[in-house]
Amino acid sequence: MPGGHTTVIQRVLERRGQKPPTSDEGTTATVAVMVRVLPPPKALLAFQDAPMRAFMEQRVRPDMLDYDSVADDAEALRRFESEFRPVVLTDNPELIRKIRARSAQRAPYILYVAELDDSAEREAGLAAGADDCVGRRVSEREFEARIGAARRIAELEAVLRITLAENRKLSATDDLTKVASRRFFGKHFPREVERAGRYGRALSLILCDIDNFKKINDTLGHAAGDDILRQFGPRLQRQLRKGVDWVARIGGEEFAIVMPETAYEAAVAVARKLRAAVAGAAFKPVNKTLQVTASFGLCGMDRVPVGEPRLAERVLKIADAALYRSKNDGRNRVTAAILKGPAA
Ligand code: GH3
Ligand code: MG
Ligand code: MG
Repeated sequence: MPGGHTTVIQRVLERRGQKPPTSDEGTTATVAVMVRVLPPPKALLAFQDAPMRAFMEQRVRPDMLDYDSVADDAEALRRFESEFRPVVLTDNPELIRKIRARSAQRAPYILYVAELDDSAEREAGLAAGADDCVGRRVSEREFEARIGAARRIAELEAVLRITLAENRKLSATDDLTKVASRRFFGKHFPREVERAGRYGRALSLILCDIDNFKKINDTLGHAAGDDILRQFGPRLQRQLRKGVDWVARIGGEEFAIVMPETAYEAAVAVARKLRAAVAGAAFKPVNKTLQVTASFGLCGMDRVPVGEPRLAERVLKIADAALYRSKNDGRNRVTAAILKGPAA
């Protein structure tokens, strides 16, 4: 059908047009504010050539970049290790290569300042990993414009990092284990308690902390530790009622299991089942197998007291004290406490 393709595109665009406008303006304004309130990007000037270094120190004004200036490679890398510099100006392709070789770390914006502004030199700098290149005889205006570009990129990277970290914090699920996040637990556990209190129902909380996890990390590596955490959540969840009980990761290797409508005795039985499910079969982190155990602390309520302010906090404290007891008594065990009436 002639024009069929265009028709589809048009229809999609029309549908887009009907959508409520997204808050692009708000985002733009927020980014602008963040860029403004962030401190100016820290820079590192690393020039081997002394006259060039003096010249650059005088050229880069404090309002352009907040910089440290060093002469040699080793010192530059040392400064870099101790504190990240989002902008680097250098006359040394070897240093650029070394900085770029640190692939796991954040990448700075690198401006290579060439002695001669010829294409062979520019090529060498860019090939070493520089983002941009200028000759030392560049005009003041051009130099300022290029520093401006470096700043913009560095600032946007900083904003992006902050936003990503914030988003992760706001997330309802934990990235690694896919169970509920600490934030979700903080918000919804008190609601569960309040709701159970209103209806005079049962509710229990189990806290669970993997035993000697630091040693697992130390011997098998952090990636293996992550793998175990990834497998840990589903293993707990398999023992629980779908859509009723829920698991949250509330610390590095610490989980909370919220069990609405579950009285003390029933909760103790679940905690024992969970303990056995963890200890009973080896975990398989990255091509290895490993026996893992966890300790449990429980606070059970057959009938949640009504109208007690900060009850959720008290329940959490009681479960935490029980968990502490399990650790002290030798780990890989369940300690349970029952909460009967309102606080004395
Ligand atoms: P205990 O039996 O007393 O609980 O000892 P432990 O070693 O488990 O407890 P400790 O609190 O000393 O150490 C917890 C460790 O968990 C330290 C931390 O590096 C590690 N950890 C926390 N979060 C993560 C994570 O996301 N991934 C990995 N791999 N390790 C983590
Ligand atoms: Mg632990
Ligand atoms: Mg812990």
